[in-house]
Amino acid sequence: MTVAKHSEPALTAIALFLDVDGTLLELAATPQAVSVSDALREGLRALSRASGGAVALVSGRAITDLDALFAPLTLPSAGLHGFEHRGASGAYCRRPPPSAAALEDARGEMLRLARAHPGLLVEDKRFALALHYRNAPHLEEAVMMAMREVAARLAGELELQRGKMVMELRPAGATKAQAVAAFLTEAPFAGRLPIFIGDDLTDEPAFELVNRLGGASVVVSATRPSAAQTRFADVAAVRAWLTQLQAEPAAALQRLPPFEQRASVRDDPSLAAEHGPPLRSRA
Ligand SMILES: [Mg+2]
Repeated sequence: MTVAKHSEPALTAIALFLDVDGTLLELAATPQAVSVSDALREGLRALSRASGGAVALVSGRAITDLDALFAPLTLPSAGLHGFEHRGASGAYCRRPPPSAAALEDARGEMLRLARAHPGLLVEDKRFALALHYRNAPHLEEAVMMAMREVAARLAGELELQRGKMVMELRPAGATKAQAVAAFLTEAPFAGRLPIFIGDDLTDEPAFELVNRLGGASVVVSATRPSAAQTRFADVAAVRAWLTQLQAEPAAALQRLPPFEQRASVRDDPSLAAEHGPPLRSRA
């Protein structure tokens, strides 16, 4: 009898949700400067296959941008922080978009700022706009003040999302928690234990949701305060864990707190049957 195997968490029992920038890919000087290695692309393809397709990207990038980045691999994806969704079936849906007037207003203000301050970069994601100050970190305060003003004016349409060296106006109401929740209502994600790995403030609502659902949340940062249960120090640690997940799923999963508990002897009914009933406190 292979009792030990009974409690081992398997790839077909989990739903894996991965942020992209700062999690799978090192942050670069500009969003266009990143690239996906063959090793990462093939690793994700293999994991997706082994898990029955339950690997999704949950990013602040637009889905078209994710597809271009990972081509020819296309994974189930949530784009623009949960605004748009493409499930495993390929079906695409999105929330009601911000008005063209609001987007135009935000774009105009951000372009004006970028023209006035060399080093600022406007990233137009169609339904969201990001102002990057990575190449002009001294402008953080000015960028923040200006963007807060725009966000207040366009409240209800666009919302401020702070990130690493970036201030973004994203469609109001969309969150990565909603993105994960949407996946968990559809095959092959439904009924599985969610794992979410992310690095930035936009990932926090997803960490909180996954924690509530008894899943595993992992923040990619050595120091940042976070709702996540576990930390990976950097992108290299995430990539190493994903490699291990493919080669030795049980060992990789047992590094995450919820699986550590699940794999314990007490939680295994077949072991309990072999060793007698669990101890109960006396009434
Ligand atoms: Mg990120």
